[in-house]
Amino acid sequence: MKKVLITGANKSIGFEAARQLLKQGYFVYLGARDNIKGDNAVAQLKAAGLTNVEFLQIDVSNPTSVEAAGKKITELDVLINNAGISGGFPQNNSASLDTFHEVFNTNFFGAINVVQNFIELLKKSAEPRIVNVTSGLASLTLHSDPTWKYYPYKSSIYGPSKSALNAYTIVLAYELKDTAFKVNAVDPGYTKTDFNNNMGPGTVVDAAAIIVKYATISADGPTGKFFSNDIETADQESPW
Ligand code: NAP
Repeated sequence: MKKVLITGANKSIGFEAARQLLKQGYFVYLGARDNIKGDNAVAQLKAAGLTNVEFLQIDVSNPTSVEAAGKKITELDVLINNAGISGGFPQNNSASLDTFHEVFNTNFFGAINVVQNFIELLKKSAEPRIVNVTSGLASLTLHSDPTWKYYPYKSSIYGPSKSALNAYTIVLAYELKDTAFKVNAVDPGYTKTDFNNNMGPGTVVDAAAIIVKYATISADGPTGKFFSNDIETADQESPW
């Protein structure tokens, strides 16, 4: 049975990705920073008959927590770096430097630290997969195009934190290009969750489905790419 770790999986898109992967026969390490929320999420899945799931405490912004989590498991095939924060909207250049640090600590340095702590386990898998959950707002190409529909949706912190994650994805995929790894950045699309006060038009089911697709992509699938699930243009390769 293949094993997957999803960070920030106690609710919303990460939780739904856990549900979909369990239905596909994966064993899920449900990552959550809060013990009670993690236990409750696991209990909810088990109550629905999805029993191959275990809570893994992991606060991606806390190196001690990430390192401890890395020592608790011995096998891993798929890593989904889903945990993310926005830093609050709207954001402009007067946002405090502390908030820049806080968001980058989770969305960028956190994801890197998780990769570094789990990569040796992934290397033992026959078909290792890494999905870095990014955002359409990370695309520098689209964000500098005044005709893009989200052009005015500028965020001084969140967008750049995911652009940095995208840049890291390219480098990581390159480093692993001669191996069985597939490493991709996946934007689940503007989705109705707590992240945006439930303003997004998309559903968590569709958002999780594109993440699951690239988490389970076959050996002839892409690596080092950026895919986006915008409501009008579902699952397309996005410019960086
Ligand atoms: P959400 O409803 O806010 O859920 C975020 C999850 O991440 C929660 O489980 C949260 O845990 C967890 N988390 C935050 N900081 C963490 C940390 N330091 N360590 C571990 N877990 C942490 O957000 P979502 O909408 O599901 O978003 C999931 C991912 O999709 C994020 O990376 C987000 O940037 C990305 N995304 C979302 C949208 C959208 O429209 N919703 C669009 C594009 C990309 P707590 O419950 O403890 O806070």
